[in-house]
Amino acid sequence: MKSKGLERLDIVSLFPGMFDGPLSESLIGKARERGLIDLRVHNLRDFSDDRKHRKVDDRPYGGGPGMVIRPEPVYRALKAIRATGTKRLKPHVIFMSPQGRLLTQKIAHDFAVKPWLLVLCGHYEGLDERIMSLVDDEVSIGDYVLTGGELPAMVFADTVVRLIPGVVKEAGSITRDSFQSGTLDYPHYTRPAIWRKKKVPAVLMSGHHEAIEFWRQQQAVAVTLRKRPDLLEEK
Ligand code: SAM
Repeated sequence: MKSKGLERLDIVSLFPGMFDGPLSESLIGKARERGLIDLRVHNLRDFSDDRKHRKVDDRPYGGGPGMVIRPEPVYRALKAIRATGTKRLKPHVIFMSPQGRLLTQKIAHDFAVKPWLLVLCGHYEGLDERIMSLVDDEVSIGDYVLTGGELPAMVFADTVVRLIPGVVKEAGSITRDSFQSGTLDYPHYTRPAIWRKKKVPAVLMSGHHEAIEFWRQQQAVAVTLRKRPDLLEEK
Protein backbone atom coordinates (compact mmCIF):
# COMPACT_ATOMS: atom_id res chain seq x y z
CA MET A 1 0.00 0.00 0.00
CA LYS A 2 1.37 3.43 -0.93
CA SER A 3 2.10 5.66 2.07
CA LYS A 4 0.07 8.87 2.33
CA GLY A 5 3.24 10.60 3.48
CA LEU A 6 4.33 12.01 6.80
CA GLU A 7 1.56 12.12 9.41
CA ARG A 8 3.38 11.96 12.69
CA LEU A 9 6.67 13.35 14.02
CA ASP A 10 7.91 12.68 17.54
CA ILE A 11 10.93 14.43 19.02
CA VAL A 12 12.74 13.24 22.15
CA SER A 13 14.84 15.89 23.90
CA LEU A 14 16.28 16.90 27.24
CA PHE A 15 15.01 20.43 26.62
CA PRO A 16 11.46 20.16 25.26
CA GLY A 17 10.75 23.81 26.15
CA MET A 18 13.12 24.89 23.37
CA PHE A 19 10.60 23.71 20.77
CA ASP A 20 7.70 25.84 22.04
CA GLY A 21 8.18 28.84 19.76
CA PRO A 22 9.69 27.45 16.55
CA LEU A 23 7.28 24.55 16.20
CA SER A 24 4.11 26.32 17.28
CA GLU A 25 4.34 29.52 15.22
CA SER A 26 4.08 30.23 11.49
CA LEU A 27 3.46 27.47 8.92
CA ILE A 28 4.40 24.57 11.19
CA GLY A 29 2.11 25.83 13.96
CA LYS A 30 -0.72 26.21 11.44
CA ALA A 31 -0.05 22.72 10.01
CA ARG A 32 -0.40 21.32 13.53
CA GLU A 33 -3.62 23.26 14.15
CA ARG A 34 -5.05 22.03 10.84
CA GLY A 35 -4.17 18.42 11.71
CA LEU A 36 -1.73 18.05 8.79
CA ILE A 37 0.96 16.78 11.15
CA ASP A 38 0.76 15.22 14.60
CA LEU A 39 3.92 16.64 16.18
CA ARG A 40 4.79 15.55 19.73
CA VAL A 41 7.79 16.62 21.81
CA HIS A 42 8.85 14.35 24.69
CA ASN A 43 11.11 15.00 27.65
CA LEU A 44 13.79 12.30 27.85
CA ARG A 45 13.81 12.68 31.65
CA ASP A 46 10.25 11.30 31.75
CA PHE A 47 11.75 7.97 30.68
CA SER A 48 14.62 7.96 33.15
CA ASP A 49 15.18 4.81 35.21
CA ASP A 50 16.44 7.09 38.01
CA ARG A 51 13.12 7.89 39.69
CA LYS A 52 14.59 10.22 42.29
CA HIS A 53 16.72 12.62 40.24
CA ARG A 54 15.49 11.74 36.72
CA LYS A 55 19.14 11.68 35.66
CA VAL A 56 19.78 10.43 32.13
CA ASP A 57 23.55 10.91 31.72
CA ASP A 58 26.75 9.58 33.23
CA ARG A 59 30.54 9.86 32.88
CA PRO A 60 32.21 8.21 29.89
CA TYR A 61 33.91 4.85 30.31
CA GLY A 62 37.62 5.25 29.59
CA GLY A 63 37.64 8.73 31.09
CA GLY A 64 37.76 12.01 29.23
CA PRO A 65 35.60 15.12 29.24
CA GLY A 66 31.84 15.50 29.20
CA MET A 67 28.88 13.29 29.94
CA VAL A 68 27.15 10.63 27.86
CA ILE A 69 23.40 9.95 27.66
CA ARG A 70 22.75 6.47 29.03
CA PRO A 71 21.05 3.95 26.73
CA GLU A 72 18.24 2.86 29.10
CA PRO A 73 16.23 6.14 29.14
CA VAL A 74 16.48 6.33 25.34
CA TYR A 75 15.41 2.69 25.02
CA ARG A 76 12.43 3.33 27.31
CA ALA A 77 11.45 6.43 25.35
CA LEU A 78 11.56 4.54 22.05
CA LYS A 79 9.57 1.64 23.49
CA ALA A 80 6.89 3.87 25.04
CA ILE A 81 6.48 6.01 21.93
CA ARG A 82 6.41 2.95 19.64
CA ALA A 83 3.64 1.48 21.80
CA THR A 84 1.40 4.44 20.90
CA GLY A 85 1.46 3.33 17.25
CA THR A 86 -0.15 0.33 15.62
CA LYS A 87 1.39 -3.04 14.73
CA ARG A 88 1.56 -1.96 11.11
CA LEU A 89 2.91 1.52 11.80
CA LYS A 90 6.41 1.79 13.25
CA PRO A 91 8.43 4.98 13.49
CA HIS A 92 11.55 5.54 11.42
CA VAL A 93 14.09 6.49 14.09
CA ILE A 94 16.51 9.33 13.35
CA PHE A 95 19.37 10.52 15.53
CA MET A 96 20.43 14.13 14.91
CA SER A 97 24.21 13.92 14.80
CA PRO A 98 27.12 15.82 13.25
CA GLN A 99 28.31 12.41 12.05
CA GLY A 100 25.13 11.73 10.07
CA ARG A 101 24.10 12.14 6.42
CA LEU A 102 24.02 15.77 5.47
CA LEU A 103 20.43 17.06 5.30
CA THR A 104 19.57 18.15 1.75
CA GLN A 105 16.29 18.95 0.02
CA LYS A 106 16.44 15.53 -1.64
CA ILE A 107 16.85 13.72 1.66
CA ALA A 108 14.07 15.85 3.15
CA HIS A 109 11.75 14.59 0.37
CA ASP A 110 12.71 10.99 1.17
CA PHE A 111 11.75 11.52 4.81
CA ALA A 112 8.54 13.40 3.98
CA VAL A 113 7.04 10.23 2.44
CA LYS A 114 7.59 8.15 5.58
CA PRO A 115 4.43 8.01 7.67
CA TRP A 116 6.09 8.37 11.08
CA LEU A 117 9.42 9.85 12.10
CA LEU A 118 10.92 9.75 15.59
CA VAL A 119 13.80 12.15 16.13
CA LEU A 120 16.33 11.75 18.95
CA CYS A 121 18.28 14.81 20.11
CA GLY A 122 21.67 14.20 21.67
CA HIS A 123 23.36 16.43 24.21
CA TYR A 124 26.72 16.56 26.00
CA GLU A 125 29.03 14.05 24.23
CA GLY A 126 26.04 12.31 22.62
CA LEU A 127 24.31 8.96 23.13
CA ASP A 128 25.80 5.70 24.38
CA GLU A 129 26.83 3.93 21.16
CA ARG A 130 24.89 0.76 22.04
CA ILE A 131 21.55 2.49 21.38
CA MET A 132 22.57 2.98 17.74
CA SER A 133 21.30 -0.52 16.91
CA LEU A 134 17.78 0.95 17.34
CA VAL A 135 18.47 3.97 15.14
CA ASP A 136 17.57 3.80 11.42
CA ASP A 137 19.31 6.97 10.26
CA GLU A 138 21.75 9.61 11.49
CA VAL A 139 21.16 13.09 10.08
CA SER A 140 23.44 16.12 10.28
CA ILE A 141 22.53 19.72 9.45
CA GLY A 142 26.11 20.65 8.58
CA ASP A 143 29.78 20.11 9.27
CA TYR A 144 29.88 21.98 12.56
CA VAL A 145 29.04 20.98 16.12
CA LEU A 146 26.16 22.44 18.11
CA THR A 147 25.54 22.08 21.83
CA GLY A 148 22.60 19.75 21.36
CA GLY A 149 20.28 18.13 18.84
CA GLU A 150 17.41 20.55 19.52
CA LEU A 151 18.22 23.19 16.89
CA PRO A 152 19.06 20.49 14.30
CA ALA A 153 15.75 18.74 15.09
CA MET A 154 13.88 22.02 14.56
CA VAL A 155 15.64 22.58 11.23
CA PHE A 156 14.86 19.00 10.24
CA ALA A 157 11.18 19.22 11.32
CA ASP A 158 10.63 22.53 9.53
CA THR A 159 12.26 21.30 6.30
CA VAL A 160 10.30 18.05 6.21
CA VAL A 161 6.91 19.28 7.46
CA ARG A 162 6.71 22.06 4.83
CA LEU A 163 6.87 19.32 2.17
CA ILE A 164 3.64 17.71 3.40
CA PRO A 165 0.95 18.52 0.82
CA GLY A 166 -1.22 21.41 2.01
CA VAL A 167 1.25 22.87 4.53
CA VAL A 168 2.50 25.44 2.05
CA LYS A 169 -0.73 26.65 0.47
CA GLU A 170 0.61 27.24 -3.03
CA ALA A 171 2.35 24.02 -4.07
CA GLY A 172 4.10 25.95 -6.87
CA SER A 173 6.10 27.84 -4.30
CA ILE A 174 7.79 24.58 -3.25
CA THR A 175 8.49 23.30 -6.75
CA ARG A 176 10.28 26.56 -7.54
CA ASP A 177 12.35 26.59 -4.34
CA SER A 178 16.12 26.43 -4.47
CA PHE A 179 17.52 22.89 -4.89
CA GLN A 180 14.20 21.44 -6.10
CA SER A 181 15.23 21.21 -9.75
CA GLY A 182 18.98 21.51 -9.44
CA THR A 183 19.18 25.31 -9.46
CA LEU A 184 18.62 28.09 -6.95
CA ASP A 185 15.40 30.11 -6.93
CA TYR A 186 15.00 33.14 -9.26
CA PRO A 187 14.93 36.71 -7.81
CA HIS A 188 11.63 38.02 -6.42
CA TYR A 189 10.22 41.57 -6.44
CA THR A 190 7.17 43.24 -4.91
CA ARG A 191 5.65 46.75 -4.69
CA PRO A 192 6.59 49.53 -5.24
CA ALA A 193 7.60 49.31 -8.92
CA ILE A 194 10.33 51.86 -8.26
CA TRP A 195 12.04 51.83 -4.87
CA ARG A 196 14.74 54.41 -4.18
CA LYS A 197 15.38 54.75 -7.91
CA LYS A 198 15.69 50.96 -8.35
CA LYS A 199 13.20 49.54 -10.88
CA VAL A 200 11.55 46.14 -11.03
CA PRO A 201 12.65 44.32 -14.25
CA ALA A 202 10.24 45.42 -17.00
CA VAL A 203 9.39 41.87 -18.09
CA LEU A 204 7.73 41.19 -14.71
CA MET A 205 5.33 44.09 -15.34
CA SER A 206 4.57 43.03 -18.93
CA GLY A 207 1.79 40.56 -18.14
CA HIS A 208 3.38 38.26 -20.74
CA HIS A 209 3.39 34.90 -18.92
CA GLU A 210 5.67 33.03 -21.30
CA ALA A 211 8.24 35.82 -21.30
CA ILE A 212 8.10 35.98 -17.50
CA GLU A 213 8.62 32.22 -17.21
CA PHE A 214 11.54 32.32 -19.66
CA TRP A 215 13.14 35.22 -17.74
CA ARG A 216 12.75 33.38 -14.43
CA GLN A 217 14.35 30.20 -15.77
CA GLN A 218 17.24 32.21 -17.19
CA GLN A 219 17.66 34.06 -13.89
CA ALA A 220 17.59 30.82 -11.87
CA VAL A 221 20.51 29.49 -13.92
CA ALA A 222 22.40 32.81 -13.77
CA VAL A 223 21.96 33.08 -9.99
CA THR A 224 23.11 29.48 -9.55
CA LEU A 225 26.18 30.06 -11.73
CA ARG A 226 27.06 33.09 -9.65
CA LYS A 227 26.33 31.77 -6.14
CA ARG A 228 26.54 27.97 -6.30
CA PRO A 229 28.21 26.81 -9.55
CA ASP A 230 28.83 23.43 -7.90
CA LEU A 231 25.10 22.65 -8.28
CA LEU A 232 25.40 22.80 -12.07
CA GLU A 233 28.47 20.63 -12.32
CA GLU A 234 27.79 17.15 -13.67
CA LYS A 235 27.82 14.65 -10.88
N1 SAM B 1 30.97 14.62 20.46
C1 SAM B 1 30.03 14.63 19.36
C2 SAM B 1 30.78 14.52 18.04
O1 SAM B 1 31.80 15.17 17.91
O2 SAM B 1 30.29 13.82 17.14
C3 SAM B 1 29.24 15.93 19.34
C4 SAM B 1 28.26 16.04 20.46
S1 SAM B 1 27.32 17.52 20.35
C5 SAM B 1 28.13 18.55 21.48
C6 SAM B 1 25.85 17.09 21.20
C7 SAM B 1 24.68 16.71 20.32
O3 SAM B 1 24.31 17.80 19.50
C8 SAM B 1 24.91 15.57 19.37
O4 SAM B 1 24.78 14.32 20.01
C9 SAM B 1 23.83 15.80 18.33
O5 SAM B 1 22.59 15.28 18.74
C10 SAM B 1 23.74 17.32 18.31
N2 SAM B 1 24.43 17.94 17.17
C11 SAM B 1 25.53 18.73 17.24
N3 SAM B 1 25.91 19.15 16.03
C12 SAM B 1 25.03 18.65 15.14
C13 SAM B 1 24.89 18.72 13.72
N4 SAM B 1 25.75 19.41 12.98
N5 SAM B 1 23.85 18.09 13.15
C14 SAM B 1 22.98 17.37 13.90
N6 SAM B 1 23.08 17.24 15.24
C15 SAM B 1 24.07 17.86 15.87
